[in-house]
Amino acid sequence: MREGKIFVVSGPSGVGKSTVLHALLQNRKNLYFSVSATTRPPREGEEDGVHYHFVTVDTFRDWIARDAFLEYAEYVGNFYGTPRKYVEDALAQGRDVVLDIEIQGAIQVRRKAPEAVRIFIAPPSWVELERRLRSRGTDSPEKVQKRLLRAKVEFQTAYAYDYFVVNDTVENAVRELEAIMTAEHCRPDARMESMSS
Ligand code: ADP
Ligand code: 5GP
Repeated sequence: MREGKIFVVSGPSGVGKSTVLHALLQNRKNLYFSVSATTRPPREGEEDGVHYHFVTVDTFRDWIARDAFLEYAEYVGNFYGTPRKYVEDALAQGRDVVLDIEIQGAIQVRRKAPEAVRIFIAPPSWVELERRLRSRGTDSPEKVQKRLLRAKVEFQTAYAYDYFVVNDTVENAVRELEAIMTAEHCRPDARMESMSS
């Protein structure tokens, strides 16, 4: 059976990760999007269990104590974590898994699953990133500034990723992500494993 792979996607808040991944999932039906748990309140239009599992800080701490997260991190005042079980179930079924997580989480995944493929998504410019963050209209001006500051730090880590995708248009970014996923399954180790089982 074809082995599923983990694809970690990171990049500054507002760069368009959710938008691009949503479009990608329409094209690749067998791809499993890992729904994270978070203590941040839902934005308008976000559904529990679809965009995130929205939980209290107490519940989040309980999941940490039970080792239920593959990784977790604090980001601009809230906790975010990847529930381990769904990822493991999807991989066991031979499905690829995509994680939309920030850089501290990406480092933890690197340690626990070194074979994971890590992709950094960047904006075409800082001006455009700020415009997208503001136009989304979900964060106060103060939060937008915090996310922009964080973005500059995150950008410095981009060299540690395997791939760098610029989200100038959603179509281009999706095309590059699909090319990366296809290429990763053409590596000899991936091909030999699927032949031997
Ligand atoms: P993230 O998940 O990285 O925080 P979002 O997907 O929420 O970012 O996108 C932030 C804003 O930018 C949204 O309003 C979205 O519609 C817009 N956006 C995303 N990708 C593009 C793009 N390629 N060109 C223009 N606007 C975009
Ligand atoms: P947002 O609040 O904009 O949805 O997400 C803020 C940041 O948290 C984004 O960079 C997003 O990638 C990251 N994030 C979402 N889920 C997780 C998770 O499960 N773990 C980690 N480490 N980061 C996450």
